[in-house]
Amino acid sequence: NTRIVLAARPDGEPADGDFRMESSSTPTLGRGELLLRTIYLSLDPYMRGRMNAARSYVDPVELGAVMVGATVSEVVESADDAFAPGDVVLAGSGWQEFAVATASQVRRLDPSVAPITTALGVLGMPGFTAYAGVTAIGKPKRGETLVVAAATGPVGATVGQIASALGARTVGIVGGAAKEAVARRFGFDAVIDRKVGELGEALDAAAPDGIDVYFENVGGAVWDAVLPRLNTYARVPVCGLIATLNGPAATSGPAHSPALMRTVLTKSLTIRGFIQDEFRESLTTSFAADMTRWVRDGQVTYLEDITSGLANAPKVFRGMLRGENLGKTIIQVGED
Ligand code: NDP
Repeated sequence: NTRIVLAARPDGEPADGDFRMESSSTPTLGRGELLLRTIYLSLDPYMRGRMNAARSYVDPVELGAVMVGATVSEVVESADDAFAPGDVVLAGSGWQEFAVATASQVRRLDPSVAPITTALGVLGMPGFTAYAGVTAIGKPKRGETLVVAAATGPVGATVGQIASALGARTVGIVGGAAKEAVARRFGFDAVIDRKVGELGEALDAAAPDGIDVYFENVGGAVWDAVLPRLNTYARVPVCGLIATLNGPAATSGPAHSPALMRTVLTKSLTIRGFIQDEFRESLTTSFAADMTRWVRDGQVTYLEDITSGLANAPKVFRGMLRGENLGKTIIQVGED
């Protein structure tokens, strides 16, 4: 069993030496357990937070422990009557070839519904995040303007398409010309390359009537440019802050916090952070029904960025944090 463990806690951007590849014996089954072989491993921004020592909304990965992660896995052996060898499941095996789980820790996937990789992206956690943030918090109305950055990633691209379906005008912010073309294919009404020109001017041109919903995926310079352009009663679902994910945690209020609070007050803003899991009970059923239908009908499309080989996971993960991914980042660990 080849696996990748956390070797050191990163200082800023993760380095290759923060990960270590190891071999261990293939785990053996206890009563009621399943032996799983990883087919696909999902790489997600939240994993960077888990590499820090501090607890955020979940516990950190311990030094020497396998890096966490969602997987699409095949049941190889089963000591549970509900599962048979050959079944494909959504699991949380982490960055390794084999893992043991109980039936309650996995969810069976039906490959006839959609390609199994989608369980890690548009039909999985990132798609659910987009769905929850837009429908439960952002609530764009017909004719309103929604802005989202990281617009070609699994969260951003899905946010844009759901908002379009609800009748909003959508503006996608991306890093680089290649992503600009991709964002247009996802149907964004306007696309801004954050690496070219002045972001504020570009937002003025793309959203001349101001911004009603800003789906916060990145923080940093994009947030600074968006804030003064928010309309009265604008909603800001705060989903992720990847621009500052590698930086040291802010310890005290930045100098512009009084100005921020004045804007929140005078424009009656709703700024609402969320962790997608909060909506698991209330939205899982409607998400599964809506998103499966939208994907089947082609109303929601998706893009995946798949690299072969578990050994490439650290490099690909680091690249994703820098914006080198084009679509949902996935590692193919074993044969499909
Ligand atoms: P993506 O696949 O979109 O990858 C991250 C993207 O972030 C990069 O491709 C890049 O896009 C962009 N990015 C990187 N650095 C910066 C920067 N300095 N400024 C602006 N953009 C930057 O990731 P996901 O779709 O998986 O996740 C998107 C966000 O949603 C993340 O912040 C993530 O943490 C968050 N999230 C939150 C959840 C929750 O429950 N709250 C659940 C899931 C995700 P580009 O090159 O186009 O700028």
